[in-house]
Amino acid sequence: MLLKEIIVGLVVTGILTGIYLLWRRKQNKLAAYKLPPSTKFLLYNYLPLYRVLNDDGKQRFEERMRDFLARTKITGVEGVVVHDIDRIFIAASAILPLYAYDKWRYYNLNEILLYPTVFNKHYDTDGYDRNVLGMVGDGVMNRHMILSQPALRDGFMNPDSTHNTAIHEFVHLIDKADGAIDGVPQYLLNKDNVKKWNFYSDMYMQAIREGFTDINPYATKSKAEFFAVISEYYFKQPGMLQYRYPDLYKMLQEMYQPKAA
Ligand SMILES: [Zn+2]
Repeated sequence: MLLKEIIVGLVVTGILTGIYLLWRRKQNKLAAYKLPPSTKFLLYNYLPLYRVLNDDGKQRFEERMRDFLARTKITGVEGVVVHDIDRIFIAASAILPLYAYDKWRYYNLNEILLYPTVFNKHYDTDGYDRNVLGMVGDGVMNRHMILSQPALRDGFMNPDSTHNTAIHEFVHLIDKADGAIDGVPQYLLNKDNVKKWNFYSDMYMQAIREGFTDINPYATKSKAEFFAVISEYYFKQPGMLQYRYPDLYKMLQEMYQPKAA
């Protein structure tokens, strides 16, 4: 009897040690990952919201990016070569919407596929945003995001547009974290704000349909698209959004920067 207990004890200890060593190895690998040397240059020149952070804020932003890249696979498809600029723009898009939420990680994402131009002609599966620029996968492509490499870069290198495809897709993932891409991101809203957000979404979608505003009409496709599109405005053209639609800007600020709102 005693011998049996000793053997069981040794086996359990062996298994637990094995699990611990695997976990330790993964943690060491994550900690060893380093951001590309061009990170600061690219962030400083192409991300105005990074520029206005103080030194501590910049450091925290970079550490969150580093952690994201260490955990997320990025793969080029159909001949695409993934460059440092792509990694940096992708990680910046991931962290920017959730900078105020220190503990947030994208548990619903494993891999990002970068396509050369458009992919709607080549790609046929379930997912959100089955258009040419970006998509959050569903079904067999669950936990995958697809981005067009030129659209990813244009989102940062064309400062005058209201588009940022990668931010748009990460906003869908944030929306999806509560179980549904429905335009109501439960983690960013308290009970009162859910009602308020539904009210704003409906009101602005109607205004766009009736031509009362020049907000990108893609936002009327669904409440989820409204949330993703208006979030692009919030991060890409915050000054314009605040000047023209201050109530909507304030609502988004309460969601994305609750301490500042
Ligand atoms: Zn979308």
